[in-house]
Amino acid sequence: MEQNKDINQYEIPLAKRIYLNNPNSILLKKLLIFSPFLILIFSVGALRFIRNVELIPFINKFQVERNHDARILGHLPYNETPKEKLVLIEPNIEVHIDMRDSLLKMREEAKKDGIFLVFLSGFRSINLQNDIFYSLKSIRNQEAAERARVSAPPGYSEHSTGFAIDIGDATQRETDFETDFENTEAFRWLIKNAAKFHFKLSFNKGNRYIDYEPWHWRYEGSIEALKVFEISNRKL
Ligand SMILES: [Zn+2]
Repeated sequence: MEQNKDINQYEIPLAKRIYLNNPNSILLKKLLIFSPFLILIFSVGALRFIRNVELIPFINKFQVERNHDARILGHLPYNETPKEKLVLIEPNIEVHIDMRDSLLKMREEAKKDGIFLVFLSGFRSINLQNDIFYSLKSIRNQEAAERARVSAPPGYSEHSTGFAIDIGDATQRETDFETDFENTEAFRWLIKNAAKFHFKLSFNKGNRYIDYEPWHWRYEGSIEALKVFEISNRKL
């Protein structure tokens, strides 16, 4: 008795127990038990609805766009141009027929200004690119990612399109394929004039993936060339 008196003096509120035995409560219990199944059925129904109103294709399209950048080690994939679209402009240099006239005209115009451009490399087959990428990689003992900063993996080189050309200065051959080429008269002339002939520097100084290549130019003067470089230009 003494104990009860002590408890009551604190006035502890007692929980009111409710027994769920009326018909409504039984229904509620059943609902609680089956709720996971109901949620599942609802989700499946909702997904079907989404599919019907074509939200799924929209979502897929968004994902495709996001994954559209199929770069490998920073390089975009390029197909190899078929042989019949290539022309020989020098004993060892083939280019896409679309860019031949413009390229030769550019060299002629440069000559008139006292600048002597030399073509170092044009079309390269995927097989040749394979040799370049893997042989140089092993010689220099570089990892693929390192090597990819200065050379494209096979199947990922602009050179396999026939629309890329590496250019040097005939009076300063020691700068061939070197960043130092940017200090030549030839490079200065190209920066000022190449656009007139539809040529553009592919890998600028600020390029996120690939090292600066002042010698590497690409042609964008035909619809086919523009199509080839469309993704690359969109990602700039
Ligand atoms: Zn190149």
